[in-house]
Amino acid sequence: MTVDIVTIFPAMVAEPLKAGVVGRAIDRGLLDVRVRDLRDFTTDRHRVVDDVPYGGGPGMVLKPDPFFRALDAIEAERGAPLTVVLTSPQGRRFTQAEAERLSARPRLVLLCGRYEGFDDRVRERVTDELSIGDYVLSGGELPALVILDAVARLIPGVVGDEQSVAEESFSRGLLDFPQFTRPPEVTVRSATTSAERVLKVPEVLLSGNHAEIRRWRKREALARTLERRPDLLAGAELDEDEKQMLQELRALQGVQHRRMAGGK
Ligand code: SAH
Repeated sequence: MTVDIVTIFPAMVAEPLKAGVVGRAIDRGLLDVRVRDLRDFTTDRHRVVDDVPYGGGPGMVLKPDPFFRALDAIEAERGAPLTVVLTSPQGRRFTQAEAERLSARPRLVLLCGRYEGFDDRVRERVTDELSIGDYVLSGGELPALVILDAVARLIPGVVGDEQSVAEESFSRGLLDFPQFTRPPEVTVRSATTSAERVLKVPEVLLSGNHAEIRRWRKREALARTLERRPDLLAGAELDEDEKQMLQELRALQGVQHRRMAGGK
């Protein structure tokens, strides 16, 4: 997969690309990422990328033509068609499903905005306008890195253990089960009450009984999703076992609610 990131701050994205899973994917040739400086696609002596908004108002707007030239150059080098993503708080929400869709595209381009954003005519060359959440950032560089990271780890071979990708939060519409590692017992001071407690790893995980462990993990994933993100359950892919467990968990939740409403 080829990825081209167009930005006025190349240094801001270059360094993070060297680390971790994405860095390794690039080293191993699974990902071919190039960072393009938007200023390289200007034609004036001062390499100007922004201008005042027509109609007045505060701030500056990114000029359209440097983006057009950048996209022409990328297409000439990488081939067509390009999947061109515009980062924008006005875009469709970026989700795991969007990441999966993009991970199947051979040529990805990520356009990073700045200031008040892009001249609206840039959208003519864009295939997907994506937002990473309902908040406004000062630039599209962090969103581009977020999107690239989520997409890269779905490319076969990038994350060593395919199983771990398949079982993660959102992959089936459920949150992940809780994880533990050594030591089996730790003393910890609570962030909210400052009380000290000894916390043990759930017994079943030390049992070596793999069938039991699988059941426990399924149940915990369901319980967590029900508690934190019940909205996800409507779209989740559940097996018969999980449907049964979910029914039990919901019944239990109902009992707890009635108790709270009835008692004081
Ligand atoms: N005035 C614009 C926002 C400009 S913010 C508007 O209201 O739509 C500057 C740039 O940061 C944007 O062009 C975009 O590239 C990026 N950006 C800011 N918030 C973002 C978000 N939630 N998701 C994706 N990109 C975002």
